[in-house]
Amino acid sequence: MNIILLGPPGSGKGTQAKRIEQRHGIVQLSTGDMLRATAASGTEFGTRVKAIMDSGQLVPDDTIIEMINDRIAQPDCRRGFILDGFPRTVPQAEALDAMLARHGLKLDHVILLDVDAATLVDRLSGRFTCNRCGASYHERYNQPRREGICDVCGSPEFVRRADDRPEAVTARFEVYRRQTEPILPYYTERGILRRVDGVADIDAVTAEIESVLSSASSSGGPV
Ligand code: AMP
Repeated sequence: MNIILLGPPGSGKGTQAKRIEQRHGIVQLSTGDMLRATAASGTEFGTRVKAIMDSGQLVPDDTIIEMINDRIAQPDCRRGFILDGFPRTVPQAEALDAMLARHGLKLDHVILLDVDAATLVDRLSGRFTCNRCGASYHERYNQPRREGICDVCGSPEFVRRADDRPEAVTARFEVYRRQTEPILPYYTERGILRRVDGVADIDAVTAEIESVLSSASSSGGPV
């Protein structure tokens, strides 16, 4: 099963992708996580990527497309994957269609997590992540079960993302509105996009996603 999770920054894509990964045994492909690893590598390229990410802008399409093209060819993607943070532009969506066709794959579901702007700002302002595995938490809505210890990997170290600062958040919303929202009609026209209420609590959103995933594949064939 191959899935795209779409939604603005803070809509819960990463949190829900991790849950789908665990439940269905298909791999989460987060372009944000891949880029954060590149940014932390200390190479000149990594430093350039970090500067783009910290400003809230998008990394160039070619870089991202090549990254995903290589990644979906890996053996752990054979059972399926959840794209989290990709595609983010119309050229990326078009390139995804071409690469899926080349690999003989199809999209089963495209799910949009629908969240209003005020909720997004509130969520991003309290967000923190595990420094080791990237699991996402929130000061008010989603604390680790044991205080100060990551539920997923047990690490005691947490960080706040540089791009969750208010200036970067404003830029990321603007980028989403201008560059990412135009891909919604792209998938609506193909009859594959399903909207899920992303404002509900985390378990309710998971339940709604599960009901979409258990419905017949949203797509009739290769896209
Ligand atoms: P995320 O963790 O998905 O919020 O992504 C964090 C940042 O990584 C974004 O603000 C972009 O700078 C960069 N990024 C992630 N995915 C993409 C993508 N598909 N295209 C371009 N830039 C991306």
